[in-house]
Amino acid sequence: MIIPKAGKLTPEQLAEVERIAGEFDCSILEIVGRNRCIYAILGDEGRELMFNRLRGLDYLARVDLIESPYKSMDRKSALAEHQVKVGETSVGSGGPFFIGGHCTVNPEEPNLYLETAAALKEVGVHALRGGVWKPRTNPYSYQGVSKALEIVLEAKARTGLPVDVEVMDTEQLEIAVDAGVDVLQIGTRNALNYSLLKEVGKKTTGSSTAVLLKRGRHMAPPNEFIAAAEYIVAAGNPNVMLCPRGTMPALDGYRNQPDESITPLLKDKTWAPVVVDPSHSVGRDEYVTACSMAAVAYGADGLCIEAHIDPSRGIGDDPKQAVTPAAFAEIMAACRDIWPRRYQPDPLG
Ligand code: PEP
Ligand code: MN
Repeated sequence: MIIPKAGKLTPEQLAEVERIAGEFDCSILEIVGRNRCIYAILGDEGRELMFNRLRGLDYLARVDLIESPYKSMDRKSALAEHQVKVGETSVGSGGPFFIGGHCTVNPEEPNLYLETAAALKEVGVHALRGGVWKPRTNPYSYQGVSKALEIVLEAKARTGLPVDVEVMDTEQLEIAVDAGVDVLQIGTRNALNYSLLKEVGKKTTGSSTAVLLKRGRHMAPPNEFIAAAEYIVAAGNPNVMLCPRGTMPALDGYRNQPDESITPLLKDKTWAPVVVDPSHSVGRDEYVTACSMAAVAYGADGLCIEAHIDPSRGIGDDPKQAVTPAAFAEIMAACRDIWPRRYQPDPLG
């Protein structure tokens, strides 16, 4: 991590720092803070020679080695103070952050989505989710179509809320970014698709686009989850949110093995906001409230919940696990009640 003496490196100074880092196969990520910029060294930064050369530059106040496998995701990294914003909202500051909306947008019934969006706006969600392209276990199930994105964009225009859409490949990534999707969701099946994670980071470098990275269903320890997020940040986009959503094997009666309890482990290691998805974890609307409250108690910064104005008329996961906007409002109230008593990591010494 590099801290300049002035608030920001001049273009010439940045070029010199980048040239030195480049000689050691490292690159520099500029992190723009409110009052000053700091600079993360990406790559194998444990090279003494590089450090000595950088430390010799008289316009740098500090050059620190981050002894962590996550150069950028670590709570002690240059990004420690980084705030992930979605639209106008800083995720996890002042109260839980709520994303709600359909699992799957039905292109034949745009009004269902538009009405859900209006109702969720009314109850005060911060962002809308809407599945356009769907990763379906069965190849004969509805796979999604690009046309559904127009409905999501219409909901964004009508409500003024940012939108979250899953992308599964680089073609969808291009379409979604070009359309102004605010949050790119990387689903559980792609959570370890390192090529896609790199492309996502590259394509959104320097933008305000956020990424909601779901936890892989077969992802074992939290370290692997954080390392996957590191790929996106290292490729250029620090606006990453970690999303536990249940893992395999399923608990009898739940869709997956609920894993909101890994939240404190994530919060202790990384600065990144944790936005839990209770819908895919328990997989039944009647358990979503309890799972959401547990997630916040464990320290989650937010929740991504499937919601539908009339779940029985939904497609994809909605008939099983979507909550109504009225239930969503109750979940929000219950979570806000717990918020002041949530787990919070010790401040860094
Ligand atoms: C979804 O959010 O609808 C979805 C498919 O999520 P996951 O990748 O967690 O299964
Ligand atoms: Mn779903």
